Amino acid sequence: MQNTDLKIFNTLTRTKEVFKPVNPPFVGMYVCGPTVYNHVHLGNCRTFISFDIVYRYLLHLGYKVRYVRNITDVGHLVNEEEMTGEDRIGKMARIEKLEPMEIVQRYTNGFHDVMKQFNALPPSIEPTATGHIVEQINMVQAILDNGYGYVSNGSVYFDTLKYAKNHKEFGRLSGKIMDDLQVETRDLKGQSEKRHPADFAIWMKAQPEHIMRWNSPWSVGFPGWHLECSVMSTRYLGDKFDIHGGGMDLQFPHHENEIAQNIGACGHAPVNYWMHTNMLTVNGTKMSKSLNNSVLPGEMFTGENDVLAKAYDPMVVRFFMLQTHYSSTLDFSDEALQAGEKGFRRLMEGYKTLQSLQHKNGKVEESEDQAVTEECQACYEHMNDDFSTPQALAVLFGLVTRVNTYKDKGGVVSSISKETFDRLNKVFRDFIEDIFGLKEEEGADEEVVDGLMQLIIDIRQSSREKKDWDTSDKIRAVLKELEIQLKDGKDGTSWTKA
Ligand code: AMP
Ligand code: ZN
Repeated sequence: MQNTDLKIFNTLTRTKEVFKPVNPPFVGMYVCGPTVYNHVHLGNCRTFISFDIVYRYLLHLGYKVRYVRNITDVGHLVNEEEMTGEDRIGKMARIEKLEPMEIVQRYTNGFHDVMKQFNALPPSIEPTATGHIVEQINMVQAILDNGYGYVSNGSVYFDTLKYAKNHKEFGRLSGKIMDDLQVETRDLKGQSEKRHPADFAIWMKAQPEHIMRWNSPWSVGFPGWHLECSVMSTRYLGDKFDIHGGGMDLQFPHHENEIAQNIGACGHAPVNYWMHTNMLTVNGTKMSKSLNNSVLPGEMFTGENDVLAKAYDPMVVRFFMLQTHYSSTLDFSDEALQAGEKGFRRLMEGYKTLQSLQHKNGKVEESEDQAVTEECQACYEHMNDDFSTPQALAVLFGLVTRVNTYKDKGGVVSSISKETFDRLNKVFRDFIEDIFGLKEEEGADEEVVDGLMQLIIDIRQSSREKKDWDTSDKIRAVLKELEIQLKDGKDGTSWTKA
């Protein structure tokens, strides 16, 4: 293991804690995945990209990570907080006259495409809620057996009041205490089956119009949304695992209820480190489908959204996100993206320049050598400080300035030792490729084409000067076939594709 000084801000304790896995070098990480009833928007992507960085950094440190990220394909109802209304996927299936599983497949495929474009690594396991109905029924039964649930009219509810009496930690994760819950939770229509307004369904009896339904000891129905994550995380990571993540909006009730379910079923809390990412906002408001302010990744890549002046490469968007710490809000705007694009290109240019430099043994400037060594080390220290990508980036930019100075001085570096030069190269490779997951923009090929075209224009020019008509005619014919037009101007010859 390269470094074990990693500290993680734990939502549960509200402090940065030294990361100690239950069973090193193995690490278990669970992240709540998308509900696949619609396209993921850029806000969702921010959360998944943040955890991709966490995953990549843990791998980089040498941990053997089992990363589980679920697909919610049943049980997430339209009115999330109140757990009422239609199933989100069922509703879409009804509207589009498709099988629910067609909806699920369509948007799961879309999600995977997007994650690939963002160069996010696939999780080790991607379980679905519908694939774990038996396990969910078993957990409901365990909760009932332990006296923390009750059956009411075919549905099974979690007995929050009883649980809170025995387990004072209820509300600890979200900072909500039981009194708050009582005041805030209204007694909603159709929920009179509950003993207490804060109780939540772990199994729901299906109404006749509900399409997705399974047999259970209590009714033909479906599992409650919070239950799936309790079940699938512990199914693959054990009943005590290292990291559980999700967006901050999931702290309550989703994650609070998840802890209650796990303790209710097996007697102890499931997770050591709870991590929550902050929201992507638009003019200070959370990006969300229901608020109609969401921007889709596909729109980013084509520029087809009124809030965008142009298209952005997925790598520019990824870089834009890394410039802000995952625990702060990040406001989305076209100007901020344009600035991000400049920063991204500066970084990648710097990386390319570094690769073109040569080291030569000579007189080492001790202070410079030490400064470069410390800056290289600082990148890892910032990542160890709760994955501080913006600070690590700031140090890398400082190093880019040094790299550019080396290039300006002729591209041969002798003022730092070979060892430091190699370390500098390694830091850039580690950070840009492995940890940040950045790569060249797709459009980077355009630069190559531009370069080749310039070469052709020069050859055409010199062949004309030499009256080598064969060559110039051949160039003209091929360019015509490719529908490329040359325009001679006072600043030289330019080209366009018809
Ligand atoms: P959902 O598909 O709604 O369950 O959301 C999937 C993930 O995206 C969850 O972890 C949410 O917390 C997260 N999320 C939703 N909206 C945003 C946002 N505006 N910014 C960051 N994360 C978000
Ligand atoms: Zn979840």
